[in-house]
Amino acid sequence: MRIVVLAGGIGGARFLRGLKSAVPEAEITVIGNTGDDIHLFGLKVCPDLDTVMYTLGGGIHEEQGWGRAGETFAVKEELAAYGVGPEWFGLGDRDFATHIVRTQMLGAGYPLSAVTEALCARWRPGVRLLPMSDDRVETHVMIDDPEGGEGARKAVHFQEYWVRLHASVAAHAIVPVGAETAKPAPGVLEAVSGADVILFPPSNPVVSVGTILGVPGIREAVAASSAPVVGLSPIVGGAPVRGMADKVLEAVGVEATAAAVARHYGSGLIDGWLVDSVDTDAVAEVEAAGIRCRAVPLMMTDLDATAAMAREALALAEEVRG
Ligand code: GDP
Ligand code: CA
Repeated sequence: MRIVVLAGGIGGARFLRGLKSAVPEAEITVIGNTGDDIHLFGLKVCPDLDTVMYTLGGGIHEEQGWGRAGETFAVKEELAAYGVGPEWFGLGDRDFATHIVRTQMLGAGYPLSAVTEALCARWRPGVRLLPMSDDRVETHVMIDDPEGGEGARKAVHFQEYWVRLHASVAAHAIVPVGAETAKPAPGVLEAVSGADVILFPPSNPVVSVGTILGVPGIREAVAASSAPVVGLSPIVGGAPVRGMADKVLEAVGVEATAAAVARHYGSGLIDGWLVDSVDTDAVAEVEAAGIRCRAVPLMMTDLDATAAMAREALALAEEVRG
């Protein structure tokens, strides 16, 4: 079975671990979000690709959900001693090596997809990890600019909004800079059109899955696919399980409920949707929107619970396949 998963960082990576455990024989292609990518200290950092790679490759800091296990911060401290920031982005020494290798290869002319493949040769994530695009796409967030006078707004990089500001100020718009002219990375459209099942893990619907779908051609390919498309809600009981997805949903005018996120994707894109057992009330609303829906436990507390979620998603996919 060929499964394609559109993944962000933590939610996507943890789900993938469960999916691999549920169907070890499946051929899994992951289309990773690169809208979170940022250049820091002259290095190209791809947080979501690395979260997937480290999580599936056994190098992730488990409790934190991102970054390397057993990390130290000597480089960051030395940079700070020079007064060189930003200090709000936590890059550890081990993680730095990944970004150095990536930046070096990009500088030598390799596209990001080839670089990602080379990094994965070490981590052996057990999936084919493709960036959504080899072209630079960077999500920016429009926020109020208190220094700019009455009604002034400014765009900040997504990481500044998310990590430095903790999404504590209103997001007026989410702007994927570069998306209009970006092309899907080699293999992306082929994977989508050749898939037996397409899954949206419980990743952020706006700045993870939404950004991937925003690369011209990807949304169209998913919508046109004859394979069932099934998503799992990252919103449980009216709030994100972790993180601040409600803030970016608000920016695109979508309520932070499991049903509203399903309607946001829409029946033209997804065929099936899983909500958590606490959101059983949402099932009728989602089905009324033309999307087959089931309520099942959706908390990725451990590998078994996550594998059970993956099995439910695949079962729903078979059901909608008819
Ligand atoms: P990020 O790039 O690291 O923010 O990660 P993703 O975009 O892949 O996923 C973030 C989303 O995962 C958040 O909106 C969370 O609500 C969701 N999430 C995290 N853990 C769980 C879980 O155990 N169950 C469900 N249903 N969603 C989760
Ligand atoms: Ca992310």
